[in-house]
Amino acid sequence: PAYTSAYRYFHDNPDTEAVEQTVFDRHLVGSSSTYPARVSGYVTDSAAAATALATATKSYNGAIGVDVDKKPVESVLVWAKKQGKKTGMVVTSQINHATPASYLAHNESRHNYDEIADSFLASHHNIDVLLGGGWQYFIRQDKNLVEEFQANGFNYIDNYGQLAQLPSNEKVLGLFADKGLPWALDDSNKHRLSAMVAPAIAQLENKNGFFMLIEASQVDWAGHSNDIAAAMAEMDDLAKTLEYLEGYVEKNPNTLVVLTADHSTGGFTIGQGGKYLWQPDVLRSMTMSPNTIAEKLAGQKITSTNVSEMLNFKISEVEASELIATKKSLPEALITFNNLPKAEQEKMNKPTVQRLLRQHINRIIDQRTVTGWTTFGHTGVDVPVFAMGKQKELFEGLNDNTDIAKKIFKLLGKQ
Ligand code: ZN
Repeated sequence: PAYTSAYRYFHDNPDTEAVEQTVFDRHLVGSSSTYPARVSGYVTDSAAAATALATATKSYNGAIGVDVDKKPVESVLVWAKKQGKKTGMVVTSQINHATPASYLAHNESRHNYDEIADSFLASHHNIDVLLGGGWQYFIRQDKNLVEEFQANGFNYIDNYGQLAQLPSNEKVLGLFADKGLPWALDDSNKHRLSAMVAPAIAQLENKNGFFMLIEASQVDWAGHSNDIAAAMAEMDDLAKTLEYLEGYVEKNPNTLVVLTADHSTGGFTIGQGGKYLWQPDVLRSMTMSPNTIAEKLAGQKITSTNVSEMLNFKISEVEASELIATKKSLPEALITFNNLPKAEQEKMNKPTVQRLLRQHINRIIDQRTVTGWTTFGHTGVDVPVFAMGKQKELFEGLNDNTDIAKKIFKLLGKQ
């Protein structure tokens, strides 16, 4: 919920008295709890959450389309296919990441990326359009799944430019990056989700209708990095997509769009340290992700001038000298890391100059914006539910994540 509130202030025109409504504000209908199966406690991961949203089954953290006994459970997408509808998935992560995986595959672990990609091929008859990242899982040493998809009637594309020239009403596999797509802030198209969604819908439209999963996958990744600049750019990509869908529903009133989150991430708060203040101004002019800025600074001399140019806002000499100190601190960070127990190390990324600089840049942006975070993981808060179009009222009030799938199953005629 903090992400959609923050987006309202990020999106606000500060020159007018009113705080302008966002597309999220216009379509809020309720909320959803996100807890996984009892065995995993109250805080979900993306796999259990996606399995709940896709199949109406609560499972353990890590589960892809299987229940707590690791038995496969059917998704709304596969059910929709059985009812004669076309189906599609469009995401900004790799296409076999936890959320899309739970709609098309069954696996005991989200980490089995190659097996999940194999399952996508085995289940190709259930899907018509797949757009996202993931070359490294589909074009591998042991097999080339892209060629096998092509042999099964799929058009394959690997850059955004080709989206405009797709033959209509044919199957499409589009992979645009090795893993996830670049951050919206860094991408050649900062609104790449909406750029993929419009042609995907054009492929899916037919007289029997279609079911489509769309995920703005990297809002969560920005949360894990405690990166408010990337988070707002990803939210902007999502907002543009929802605005496109708003127009689509107006022209096609028989369409239902439901938007929710699988969980919240980072314990993001609008305000921090006792101040009654949140200042998103500097975020609006950023043109590069903190990750890319850190990558550049790792390879060149740090001065207040070049950092200010990259951030598009001015940092002080003191801040620049602190960044220089961080750049020199890798040996100490490695000693601290190496002294941690193995189990702790596995939960973290090994420090690199780029990672240390990235964290430091994120803290500078947090200070400017007065942004707070509590964790690099997920949190257990309820998430908002937005809906528009036909029968949107079904999603009003408090839902559980499994209710979202139950309601979609019911709309698709499953008893
Ligand atoms: Zn996550």
